[in-house]
Amino acid sequence: MTITIATNAGIEVAPPDHDSNRFYGGLIIRQTPCGERNEGPDSSDNLCVVVTAPSCHGSRMTTTNRFLSLFAALFLVARIHAAQAAAAPPPDEGKLRIICFGAHPDDCEIQAGGTAAMWAAKGHHVKFVSVTNGDIGHWREAGGPLAKRRLAEVIQTAAILGITSEVLDIHDGELEPTLENRRKITRLIREWKADLVISHRPNDYHPDHRYTAILVQDAAYMVTVPFFCPDVPELKRNPVFMYSPDRFQRPNPFQPEVAISIDPVIEKRLDAIDALVSQFYEGGANGSVENVPTDPEKQKERRRVVRAAFDKRYRDQANRFRAKLGEFYGQEAAEKVQHAEAFELCEYGKQPDKMELKRLFPFFVGERAP
Ligand SMILES: [Zn+2]
Repeated sequence: MTITIATNAGIEVAPPDHDSNRFYGGLIIRQTPCGERNEGPDSSDNLCVVVTAPSCHGSRMTTTNRFLSLFAALFLVARIHAAQAAAAPPPDEGKLRIICFGAHPDDCEIQAGGTAAMWAAKGHHVKFVSVTNGDIGHWREAGGPLAKRRLAEVIQTAAILGITSEVLDIHDGELEPTLENRRKITRLIREWKADLVISHRPNDYHPDHRYTAILVQDAAYMVTVPFFCPDVPELKRNPVFMYSPDRFQRPNPFQPEVAISIDPVIEKRLDAIDALVSQFYEGGANGSVENVPTDPEKQKERRRVVRAAFDKRYRDQANRFRAKLGEFYGQEAAEKVQHAEAFELCEYGKQPDKMELKRLFPFFVGERAP
């Protein structure tokens, strides 16, 4: 990324025009010629901020404005460095490396947030990737401003869970299983040097979920092939690939390979859900003005309802996967589990035995709350 900052530059945030302005998944600061829209780089940038030359505005800047502009520009540069540091692959010190792909900036959080917090508490490295930027996922707003809002939400969620998060620059509802996207997913898995990859299953109601699953499946072998994307070194060991749960029955229902008690982190897990305000409190694409009361008491009640719904979701999963919990925790301990997450094994990638599963999910024998 090339960054050019003029000391007398003004800062302009790209306007919220969904059709004509792309949302770039990182921070971009770039000096653009007068009247020219910055088309930005493709994948790994997050907020679209364009620094324009002052002549574009046809007015002189005061010293104060120049100072403020410089300060704002330097602040954004600091954010770039922070974002790049966060996206950097984890150090190679023997900890597990898990990467989870969700179609939208809430899917990984819904499906694997509890287990992610459990891994993170033990010092393992977890990365959530939203394959689209979520820019149509709301009933009232869309485009760049929504994408930025959703990025901010997953960053906050990542801080709560103790993980890394990245949002790719692909429009919500428009993901396709292209060669370009297969390369993106392959590179991300390689860069993270993943031991374990988690995604949706390929039979799912939402096209972005289906194609995320297909793209991850398509990368499952290619991550080991040296001359596919030779710019990023291939993985010498194929990761284990797993799916998060859904309720779809055709062509085959979800069959858990492992189930995890998330009781030790349930409050943190629900705090992370609370942070995804646009999706759950406000109701996302199918919400309405009913979801955003102005009365403080009703707002409090709305927050309580959302939190209770997710608490119930993970309680239901504990009941649904009780037998699998018993295999890993023993029947007596499994009966006491109140909240759970579970994962199905993909037939592609490394096929782990039970010992390997316990290495990848180190939460079972004599475990206490992290
Ligand atoms: Zn989704």
